[in-house]
Amino acid sequence: MATAAIPQEKLAGPELIDPAQETSCCIVGAGPGGMMLALLLARAGVKVTLLEAHKDFDREFRGDTLHPSILEILDRMGLAERLHQLPHNKIYGPTFQSSGVSFSPIDFRRLKTKFPYIMLLPQTKFLEFLAAEGKKYPTFRLRMVANVGQLIESEHGVEGVRYRSTAGWHEVRAPLTIGADGRFSKVRQLAGFEPVKTSPPMDILWFQLPHLPGDEHSDRVMGGFGNGRLLAVFDRIDYWQIGYVFPKGQYQQVRSAGLEAFRKSIVEIEPDFAKHVEALREWHQCSLLSVESSRCLVWYKPGLLVIGDAAHVMSPVGGVGINYAVQDAVVAANVLTEPLRNGRVRVEDLAEVQRQREWPTRVMQAIQSAMQTRMIASVLQTQGTLRIPWIVRFLFKIPILRDVPARVLAFGVRRVRLQAAD
Ligand SMILES: Cc1cc2nc3c(=O)[nH]c(=O)nc-3n(C[C@H](O)[C@H](O)[C@H](O)COP(=O)(O)OP(=O)(O)OC[C@H]3O[C@@H](n4cnc5c(N)ncnc54)[C@H](O)[C@@H]3O)c2cc1C
Repeated sequence: MATAAIPQEKLAGPELIDPAQETSCCIVGAGPGGMMLALLLARAGVKVTLLEAHKDFDREFRGDTLHPSILEILDRMGLAERLHQLPHNKIYGPTFQSSGVSFSPIDFRRLKTKFPYIMLLPQTKFLEFLAAEGKKYPTFRLRMVANVGQLIESEHGVEGVRYRSTAGWHEVRAPLTIGADGRFSKVRQLAGFEPVKTSPPMDILWFQLPHLPGDEHSDRVMGGFGNGRLLAVFDRIDYWQIGYVFPKGQYQQVRSAGLEAFRKSIVEIEPDFAKHVEALREWHQCSLLSVESSRCLVWYKPGLLVIGDAAHVMSPVGGVGINYAVQDAVVAANVLTEPLRNGRVRVEDLAEVQRQREWPTRVMQAIQSAMQTRMIASVLQTQGTLRIPWIVRFLFKIPILRDVPARVLAFGVRRVRLQAAD
């Protein structure tokens, strides 16, 4: 593949405070995708350096769902049992409720898997668990407070990155750099990859409400509809995690109506939260997620690959972002371990990762987009309540059809298997 001329400013780097570090694979971003890939490569004996901008894994909420697909992969790595020893809860499917009508379209318990549920585990704990596992391998190196700001490029392609720590600039040189640095990926931007955006019409406010004495525990995600709003409720044992969904662009309207109106609208959808909402006293208890979904047309160039949210931001519908980032990591490990061991990663190998992962991503994004625009958006925009068409209810009663959505949610559009477990 021909490489474009490298602009002069990319050749000249900042002053470094120590000699460049050499590794076989440099991964930027220790989220679920980057961490899983680093662990898989280190287990396979590949020297890997994982750079993470933050000082720890304890930061803003980004979802805590571990789907059956991830649990099966961890099981194959011999880690699932230990992971299950961490405090967690399980959900077996969503239930939608509106005006006394209830609809539970998905039941993971009917799937043929050792793990017929979504495990809810704080992402911090999941990442700490994987990092601790990685540190058992001499080929695994994790650098925290390592904020990548530059790519090192030559006429052969990308040859590593420069990152800033609190002490100054450092360099990591590697034949392969992986950008796993999330939805606002710096690596993607530096590489010049343009994501194609689709803008589904919704925003979400995330917040927690306390569990109060007398609250019953629920092993389902509850979706309540009403007044042009949608409430997604997850039971986190000692608190309720809530997503309050409304049409895109209405955040200022929600805020200017005031906290009292906000609390009232929650209770209108879920009357059982009348007491709980008193805990909502400040807007800063809520964080706003602007729903977006996008995909890069090209995920690689010589010496560089992007995976996870850096390659494709998934809509939160179905909560599949973590699953897809981990699946990308597994496919990347399946395809790239041998070339990395041999020190010869070809552009064709990087293209193969995109080839295997792009179409499941496209199909899933199309499904999410259809769900958002046809179902959720119509509820939100018409100020209506949930009406499940009879045909949908009928289809969900047919055994051969009813479990297809559960399978897609649990395993993604394409089931990904780890080729070598160690
Ligand atoms: C509010 C919210 C709720 C969500 N809920 C769910 C859910 O319930 N289920 C689900 O499956 N998905 C959910 N998602 C999506 C999910 O969080 C992402 O799809 C998933 O985390 C993607 O994983 P990743 O490894 O690709 O990227 P990320 O998890 O975003 O990790 C990227 C990492 O890169 C680091 N980084 C960024 N820039 C740099 C840099 N320059 N140098 C070094 N490091 C850098 C970041 O600090 C971060 O640790 C949610 C997202 C949001 C925002």
